Amino acid sequence: MIVVLLGPPGAGKGTQGEIIAERLGIPKIATGDVLRAAVRDGTEQGLAAKAYMDRGDLVPDSVILGIMKEVLSSPAAAKGAILDGVVRTVPQAEGLTTMLAELGRKVDKFLLFDVPEDELVNRLGGRVVCEKCQTPYKGLEPGTTCEKCGGKLVRRKDDEPQSIRNRLKVYQAQTEPVIEWTKERKMDLVKIDATGDVNEISERAMKALEED
Ligand code: AMP
Repeated sequence: MIVVLLGPPGAGKGTQGEIIAERLGIPKIATGDVLRAAVRDGTEQGLAAKAYMDRGDLVPDSVILGIMKEVLSSPAAAKGAILDGVVRTVPQAEGLTTMLAELGRKVDKFLLFDVPEDELVNRLGGRVVCEKCQTPYKGLEPGTTCEKCGGKLVRRKDDEPQSIRNRLKVYQAQTEPVIEWTKERKMDLVKIDATGDVNEISERAMKALEED
């Protein structure tokens, strides 16, 4: 099963993607994680992406399409994948569907995580993440140790107020049109209320995935 998670930054796609992937027994793939690893490793791809990421701008489509291709052809994704933040522009949505069609596959479901803007700003503003396993935490100081893996918690550069505002603007301008694109093509998109308890949100997501 191929599931594409859509929704603004801070909507919980990463957290929910982990849970859903575990429950379905398929990997969660996030282009944000792939890019951050490339920046850490100082690869050519990472060097090219860093400035865009720090500002909260989107990395060029050509870079993302390259990552998509690698990911989709990897054996890990043979049974399916949860794609978190992988599709953020209409050309990326088109690229993904074309690549999948060439492999005789398709996106089975788009899940749209819905959270009011005020809450997004609030969530992202106080967020720290583990630099090793990417687990997000609220209300902890940078430098604290990650409960899950022992890594160090850091504030992402793009979680600074200026970048947060830019990321939300970029989402509206470049990613929201993907929603209309799926509707025009009569693709299977389900909107999920992504506020409230983490477990309840997962239940809503799993229910949406079980529906045909
Ligand atoms: P995320 O961890 O999903 O918030 O992504 C962090 C940053 O990585 C984004 O703000 C973008 O700069 C970049 N990025 C991740 N995925 C994509 C994508 N599909 N298209 C363009 N840029 C992306």
